[in-house]
Amino acid sequence: MADFEIKDLRASVEGKEILKGVTLGINKGEVHAVMGPNGSGKSTLSYALMGHPGYKIDGGEVLFKGQNVLGLEPDVRARLGIFLAFQYPVVVPGISMTNFLRTAINAQRGYDGKDKSKQVSPKEFRSMLKGELEVLHMDDSFLPRYINDGFSGGEKKRAEILQMAMLKPEIAILDETDSGLDIDSIKFVAEAVNRMRGPNLGVLIITHYTRILEFIKPDFVHVLVDGRFVLSGGSEVADRLETTGYSEWMEADEPAVLAKEEVS
Ligand code: ADP
Ligand code: MG
Repeated sequence: MADFEIKDLRASVEGKEILKGVTLGINKGEVHAVMGPNGSGKSTLSYALMGHPGYKIDGGEVLFKGQNVLGLEPDVRARLGIFLAFQYPVVVPGISMTNFLRTAINAQRGYDGKDKSKQVSPKEFRSMLKGELEVLHMDDSFLPRYINDGFSGGEKKRAEILQMAMLKPEIAILDETDSGLDIDSIKFVAEAVNRMRGPNLGVLIITHYTRILEFIKPDFVHVLVDGRFVLSGGSEVADRLETTGYSEWMEADEPAVLAKEEVS
């Protein structure tokens, strides 16, 4: 069994069935891309994995560290090491980026305001931030600002990746982090993610376009159409989509797992 195992996940929104049985195993050290047309259920998958209250789980399980995380609150999932970068990051007035990042790291370390030894020291916090800001080509002026307040689309996406870099999750779900980014920002974001790649991190990159996958090479690519995977394979699946688009899968009713040579 994989480190993070999604088994026959079914979910609905506003009474409408969206995910119709999604199965996917992600091991730490692997990068999986989920690609699909608009409305196929990609964000629903990411919200279901993180525990968004508006998305109802109708069946299946998600196993991580010996438990089904579907029964856990989002903050508990986050502390277990699951991270979601939102497709549409929200503005949080009144909370600065610095305060938020510091509080999140402290929460992750189990600091409850009492045991100071668990608290991130100002020095460690500053040095962590400095390195990550550099990779993302962000300057310090972000830090005192309220979360996403007045940030451009690209800045919001980079701020999401900054959170990921600071929190060092074990499973990271990036929901269309590339959408709305110019090519330079895609490269910075890709560089930051590539730097985090390694044996302690499993990544699920959700994307509509193949472009970001030129910079973050996935080990596996899965095509989601109408709430089901219709094709899974290696990075060559993305190359195929680049030429054929999604149309050939729109009518597929049987999932296909193609061997490498069949895909090209
Ligand atoms: P994707 O991210 O692949 O574009 P989504 O998961 O956002 O797709 O949406 C899948 C389907 O669920 C779409 O038909 C969308 O309109 C519907 N949907 C998503 N969120 C809501 C919601 N909050 N209320 C009603 N319908 C929703
Ligand atoms: Mg989406």
